[in-house]
Amino acid sequence: MQLVSGARMAASNLVDFEEVSYLYPGAAVPAVQNLSLNIRQNQRYALIGRNGCGKTTFFHLINGLYKPQKGVIRWKENPLKYDRRSLNQLRQQIGLVFQNPEHQLVATTVEEDISYGLCNLGLPESEIASKVQQALLDFDLSDLADAPVNFLSLGQKKRISIADVMVLQPQLILLDEPGAYLDPHQVRNFQKILISIQKKGSTIVLSSHDLDFVEAWADWVFVMDEGRVVLEGSPGTVFSETEKLNELGLGLPLIYDLMNSRSDLDGNPANLNPFNEFRQRIRDRFWSGEKS
Ligand code: ADP
Repeated sequence: MQLVSGARMAASNLVDFEEVSYLYPGAAVPAVQNLSLNIRQNQRYALIGRNGCGKTTFFHLINGLYKPQKGVIRWKENPLKYDRRSLNQLRQQIGLVFQNPEHQLVATTVEEDISYGLCNLGLPESEIASKVQQALLDFDLSDLADAPVNFLSLGQKKRISIADVMVLQPQLILLDEPGAYLDPHQVRNFQKILISIQKKGSTIVLSSHDLDFVEAWADWVFVMDEGRVVLEGSPGTVFSETEKLNELGLGLPLIYDLMNSRSDLDGNPANLNPFNEFRQRIRDRFWSGEKS
């Protein structure tokens, strides 16, 4: 087990948090407390934790929406600057999909909304048009291209808000509970897009309550509680910490639950082979989604 490693520093780090604390105006307790962690390039990170543990605040700190009262946040080794120009530059490299899509959508129609960020980048019109058409297809939004955003369902708005950010292919993509409001078909579609966007070179950090998905998808898991990272590691490492995760009220992915329910395994590693095989099959099934 690796407990909180502020020191996991490497040249390819995109983001470093060093002892970062953030207190909302008027709040008694900081939402993020002495948080130290590193985000490395081209990895898949999942953030898990109970509601209110500080996940959203963490995302808003990374892209400079909030300025910490204590500690340092670095983007590619340079401390964040909070003037308008620096923040605009930062946000061209870091895309944030808000938990609530209503906080994010800006334009009147779906097509305009997806074009918005591309227009701000000053790309040629033909390139904007082809990227927008592709995004409409990827997110199953072609039929809604001219629909007024205001009249759409929350699930449809969520898909637009994810498309808005993905179409820009930022270096770092932050997704705050991307599965919220999506139906099972849309969740699977979104997961395929996640795989392909990472292949194009983006680093992804997402928060999720879907531990089976986290187990299959993530390279690295951060577990947050009361504004701190209390545990981090590969999914195998983190989800073996049964007692700690139960204490935090988080539960386990199904395969770990099954493994723990068998009291006759006697801690013999050979007895775990069928579970490990099953776990691998779940992962293979998830990753085969990229081909379908
Ligand atoms: P999560 O995303 O994990 O649910 P948040 O980052 O939204 O957690 O919240 C962390 C803590 O900060 C919670 O205790 C929450 O009540 C508090 N909080 C969130 N937003 C505000 C705000 N605008 N003003 C005061 N407190 C807030």
